[in-house]
Amino acid sequence: MLQRPLKVAIHKLTSCSGCQLAFINQGPKLLKLLEFVEFTHFIEAGLFAPDQEVDVALIEGSVSTHDDLKRLVNARQRAKLLVSIGACATSGGVQALRNMADDKENWKRAVYAHPEFIEELQDCTAVATHVKVDFELWGCPVTQQQVTECLRQLHAGVKPKDNAEKLCMECKRQGNVCVLITQQAPCLGPVVRTGCGALCPSFGKACYGCFGPSEQPNCESLTNRMTGFGLMPNDIVHRFAAIHSQSPPYQQQIARWRLQDLEGSD
Ligand code: SF4
Ligand code: SF4
Repeated sequence: MLQRPLKVAIHKLTSCSGCQLAFINQGPKLLKLLEFVEFTHFIEAGLFAPDQEVDVALIEGSVSTHDDLKRLVNARQRAKLLVSIGACATSGGVQALRNMADDKENWKRAVYAHPEFIEELQDCTAVATHVKVDFELWGCPVTQQQVTECLRQLHAGVKPKDNAEKLCMECKRQGNVCVLITQQAPCLGPVVRTGCGALCPSFGKACYGCFGPSEQPNCESLTNRMTGFGLMPNDIVHRFAAIHSQSPPYQQQIARWRLQDLEGSD
């Protein structure tokens, strides 16, 4: 256990800042955290010192631009441990959808008033594609409990553990009626990790997969079942690509069903 506060920097790459906001929104509980954490760099909270040496660098956001990559390498060099937080950092996030576009320039023109100012990398990728990551916290956004627990464990010298249990387990514990069985809704619960408290199924909606792949996800079996509900290959691609398109188990299904889609349209 450290006998001094853990020095922590929170870096933002390409992201909506939602993970930082979810963390900062805990309000007064954040003051309690300051008993064992010293934040050095945390732009959302008004602290700017990206070049300080720290114990832990938390990275929010995907690597989408040359500048992201430069700042990520700098953060890695200055931190003993690096933790990626949120869907963007762990698997590219929503913005990684552009990796699948055949004509990226068209997308750019459709989104930005002045596309000539955009200097992006060819693909939008997860942090672990570029530097060593010591630990990952999944979610879109991550919860403040996940981040706090991780920092507490690192201060105590314990290896952090994120909960990778399937969402279905939490959903069942809450006594929800299963929308996959009763409505044939394309719920991702069987292959998604818990973290949201089974929010969508608790309101009769299918899970969108905000928290990314669970432990041992049997995506092949679930997608086969989805075709039985009448989903077309492209519907399945959309389901798996929305938030975590760069995570290997979902990537496999995206590739598999895109191929089926292409073969079907020949
Ligand atoms: S993971 Fe979600 S909430 Fe967090 S920064 Fe990315 S888009 Fe925003
Ligand atoms: S509603 Fe979804 S998360 Fe809940 S048990 Fe059914 S498949 Fe699993």
